[in-house]
Amino acid sequence: MTSNNKIDYGIVGAGAAGLWLALELDRGNCLTNRKLIIFEENAQKGDDRTWCFWSPDDVGDSVIKNSVSHSWSRVSYSCSAKNSISISPYRYYYIRSSDFYEEAKRVLNKNPNIEFVYESVEDYTSTDVGIELKTGTGQKIMCEKVFTSAFKPFYSLPQIHFWQTFAGRRVKFEKEVFDNRCFTLMDFGIPQGGATQFLYVLPTSKTEALIEVTKFGKEDLDREFASQTIEKAVKTFDAGYRFIDEETGKIPMSLKLESEFSTHPDARIIPIGTVSGAIKATTGYGFLEMRNRAKVIAQGCISGNFQPFRQSARFKFYDQLLLTILKEEPQRGKEVFTSLLYGTPPQKVFKFLSEKTSIFEDLHVFSSLPVTLFLKHLVKLNWNK
Ligand SMILES: Cc1cc2nc3c(=O)[nH]c(=O)nc-3n(C[C@H](O)[C@H](O)[C@H](O)COP(=O)(O)OP(=O)(O)OC[C@H]3O[C@@H](n4cnc5c(N)ncnc54)[C@H](O)[C@@H]3O)c2cc1C
Repeated sequence: MTSNNKIDYGIVGAGAAGLWLALELDRGNCLTNRKLIIFEENAQKGDDRTWCFWSPDDVGDSVIKNSVSHSWSRVSYSCSAKNSISISPYRYYYIRSSDFYEEAKRVLNKNPNIEFVYESVEDYTSTDVGIELKTGTGQKIMCEKVFTSAFKPFYSLPQIHFWQTFAGRRVKFEKEVFDNRCFTLMDFGIPQGGATQFLYVLPTSKTEALIEVTKFGKEDLDREFASQTIEKAVKTFDAGYRFIDEETGKIPMSLKLESEFSTHPDARIIPIGTVSGAIKATTGYGFLEMRNRAKVIAQGCISGNFQPFRQSARFKFYDQLLLTILKEEPQRGKEVFTSLLYGTPPQKVFKFLSEKTSIFEDLHVFSSLPVTLFLKHLVKLNWNK
């Protein structure tokens, strides 16, 4: 490890946000004659999640291309549906985190100015000459700038009251049962139990898929319910099967992160990733956004100008309204999402959820939604919750 020398950049956390930022600093030639240390407390970090996202092109990013396990060109909204819809020019991509971590590190390890330190950052001190990070083994490293995807020690943990929780199982069938060009998004044909719950089916081959139950709610998804729902879905294929592995997770659905954590009192500490509010509150997607934000931060490293990321007021308003409905009337979530999905072409849904639609396109999207429900909750808006 580098001794007590001052370095230029410290990144805390080698997850999606930390690695994307390191990659973009490397690609943007920000590390010529500059030193970066990436601190990660979990040296064993591996296949801890899968990332899915849509993109309207062939992605155009070598790290993504080398990490993608599968992508789909068609969508359906029900496992039992015989028909599917083309999502062209989009594709929906699937990346196993272990493949991304490995590919990112393979690229980053080529740069002698980047070092990985597998220790936790336990404390920090703001000094006149930089931010001094103290690791779990007592090492002290002075950094000119620190980018953090970790709350602690820079912030206290936020109080989040609304979550996306999910539990999935990867299943392998003994015969071909899937059309692996097509994935199932938000199948609401499962018991709602007074909440907003749905199923994803992500076939990575004709015989193998990740099947996941997701809940939007104040309480976590009932794991027993998720297991039973997945088994029931699997049995409809009428073929021998075995479960290979599973994935569980929890993603904050809150606008609070951006409003409270997108800056730090010491402007040399720059939050990134989940901490900074990079995950869209109403969908839980954030992987590609972290790549996009990393590009902007890398440009900031060259210009010296770092602006906190702020969601556009228009999309923040939409997200807040939808979150209010999901919190106050979770049983209506099914109606909202099925109206959206069945009433709007998938390409327009993806564009809208990517916050790239014009206000006129938004009006088209809204025309498919239960308008009175939205109007009713307009008056109940409680910002920053
Ligand atoms: C199971 C799961 C599935 C998801 N699937 C999708 C998806 O399909 N599509 C999508 O767009 N988004 C998805 N997300 C949301 C989001 O993209 C991910 O959560 C993403 O991994 C967040 O990246 P991050 O870098 O902010 O946080 P993390 O990946 O959690 O990285 C933070 C890192 O910091 C380390 N760390 C924490 N504290 C310290 C410390 N003090 N010192 C040193 N290291 C520290 C942690 O060990 C961790 O490695 C998913 C989230 C989860 C949890």
